[in-house]
Amino acid sequence: MPDFFSPETMSQGSFDERVATLRARWQDYRDGGGFEQFVEFTLALNSLAERLSRLRLPGLVRQCEGLENAALAMYGAPETHPAAAQTVVALDRQIESLLGAIATARRVEREPDQRAGDAAEARPAEWIKPRTIWMFANAGTGWAAGLAAQLTFYGFQVRVMPWCHELPAEDPPFAVIFVPEGDADSSDDATTADIRRVRAACPASQLYFLGVPRTLERMVELMRAGIDVTIQRDDQMAALLSSVLDLVQTHDNERYRILVVEDSRTALTQIERALKQNGIDCQAIPDPSRLFEVVEDYRPDLVLMDMYMPSCNGVEATRALRQMSAFQAVPIVYLSSETDVALQVEALRLGGDQFLTKPFNPVLLAATVKTTIERHREMRRASRHDGLTGLLNHTASKAELDARLAALPAGARLAVAMLDIDHFKSVNDAYGHPVGDQVIRSLAWLLKGWLRGTDVIGRYGGEEFIVAMPGVSAHEARGVLDGIRAHFANLPHVHAAGSLRVTFSAGVADSSRYSKASELVEAADQALLEAKARGRNRIVEALPPIVPG
Ligand code: GH3
Ligand code: MG
Ligand code: MG
Ligand code: MG
Repeated sequence: MPDFFSPETMSQGSFDERVATLRARWQDYRDGGGFEQFVEFTLALNSLAERLSRLRLPGLVRQCEGLENAALAMYGAPETHPAAAQTVVALDRQIESLLGAIATARRVEREPDQRAGDAAEARPAEWIKPRTIWMFANAGTGWAAGLAAQLTFYGFQVRVMPWCHELPAEDPPFAVIFVPEGDADSSDDATTADIRRVRAACPASQLYFLGVPRTLERMVELMRAGIDVTIQRDDQMAALLSSVLDLVQTHDNERYRILVVEDSRTALTQIERALKQNGIDCQAIPDPSRLFEVVEDYRPDLVLMDMYMPSCNGVEATRALRQMSAFQAVPIVYLSSETDVALQVEALRLGGDQFLTKPFNPVLLAATVKTTIERHREMRRASRHDGLTGLLNHTASKAELDARLAALPAGARLAVAMLDIDHFKSVNDAYGHPVGDQVIRSLAWLLKGWLRGTDVIGRYGGEEFIVAMPGVSAHEARGVLDGIRAHFANLPHVHAAGSLRVTFSAGVADSSRYSKASELVEAADQALLEAKARGRNRIVEALPPIVPG
């Protein structure tokens, strides 16, 4: 058994450190050619993929995972290393291409972002994503111009060019949209070649293809050429906008927490090492006797459960844990040996958890726990978000505001705004509920498009929204929201007989004057009323609180 777990690769570090680690580990393997060095390299690769995926950079994640797959394919047995020279050269090329794509993406990210005024400077560069979109559409596709105009409203710079046009001499964009001419039902070599060309030049960008028929063959074909998202014909605009805007948002960056129940010291050391390498937090207990107490206190996202332990087996411990309502759904991954078939069947009956067979591959361990947690979080996410807009719902946005306030560093500010669409009842009355719904969605998209990925945006009620902006004063927030107000007032909303324009009003307050979430919301609400009273379509800052005495 090689030493999977030498101290050098224990460091998790920042994004740039992970890139440097990957380079160093690969060089070590090229120099030494040993199996251990290869394992170190795959761990560094895995750790980088994890970071990219947290930053929601799907293009880079895909490229990194492609490289990971290529590396895992040559994992093999210790005696197969060093690998053949041409295999090493091929992998080397893939690594250089990934690192090149990362360097380009980083350059774009570091460009200053004016969206939130001075507050932008306080933000780590990793949060910023470019807002440029390239659109390939030939002159015949009339509505492409309308789509480009829409995207501009939502805060993107769009460059429209014909298919096969020479690629602009600028950094790769955030997304590329292919608008086919006529029907996109059948494949043709020119289309495929053009997609491949763009894919190769923009490995980190998200590639969209519009007007795709609902046939498996065509979708697979496009994805093979390098398309990330195929958008079906009906409801194209809405599907595209929500996908693009969702990508701008960063999801919760909360670290994964894993509880390990394992009696073997050796197995435990290996598990801890593999998890730490992936930036996963873990806590371990050697037997299940303290399970309830630790689980209550630590609130793990997942439990890694040994099958055989002295006091009881893993299935019994899980069955007991499932009796507690708070832990009925926490995912369990069992660590078992291949011969435990009877226990494995029993565990499956208990509810579709996963197994890892000992001795385990650390990359497989990390991938299993991460995907299991992500799937579970995705389910929870669905219960926290509003169906119409995809924003946080009322309860979740309140909880998020509380959490952001609690996490605010001393002396830092947080601004809260309450927004309400003006005369919305009359929109519904005159144009019908579906048009009203589309107006609500447009405002949600506009907020997603123009606010930072790290700001909290919630649908507080029917046509009411809440926004929380960490690191921003009420005055700065007012400025940002006023820009969004102007965009919204100009945004045409389409209805059967033409289009209409709608406005919103907002009130803002910040944490320098109001410290509790309830006070902040109340103050912003009062300012909103004031904005309505002063004639709507405006943003008002809350007055300072009245100090008694
Ligand atoms: P004001 O400028 O004072 O805010 O006037 P308003 O008409 O916007 O305010 P009011 O609170 O009287 O009306 C809000 C309307 O929003 C009433 C309700 O029917 C409508 N509404 C609430 N939720 C939804 C929704 O999800 N979809 C649609 N289409 N309408 C909704
Ligand atoms: Mg054991
Ligand atoms: Mg209202
Ligand atoms: Mg209203």
